[in-house]
Amino acid sequence: MSYDSNNIFARILRGEIPCRKVDEDAHTLSFHDINPLAPTHVLVVPKGEYRDVTDFADRASDAEIAALFRAAARVAKAQGVEGAGYRVLANCGADAHQEVPHLHLHVFGGRPLGAMLKRAK
Ligand code: 5GP
Repeated sequence: MSYDSNNIFARILRGEIPCRKVDEDAHTLSFHDINPLAPTHVLVVPKGEYRDVTDFADRASDAEIAALFRAAARVAKAQGVEGAGYRVLANCGADAHQEVPHLHLHVFGGRPLGAMLKRAK
């Protein structure tokens, strides 16, 4: 599947749509989710055009991959959730309900987050 350069995060990265930025470096931009599911809900986005984890693992440089995880940890620390604990999550594709087809890590925290998934019956 090809990358759709009109997705909402590509437009945020190009500065066409505003965001509430919390962190930026050469390879990543992090901003508050518009519809937060926890007191801390930040999206950590690579600046390169990658659709999901598979695409990122296939094509990104080692520096880009390292930068994404370092940004997630930096965001957790800056948001004050590192001590109590936090969750980093990436939805990939239809079964995971990925809405925006540009790779992003969700960083959730600020309250007990519950079980990771509901157990299937
Ligand atoms: P996904 O389901 O793709 O893993 O998550 C997409 C996330 O992007 C959702 O949590 C949604 O609230 C967030 N989102 C969608 N549109 C925008 C937007 O325009 N700005 C920001 N900051 N977040 C957005």
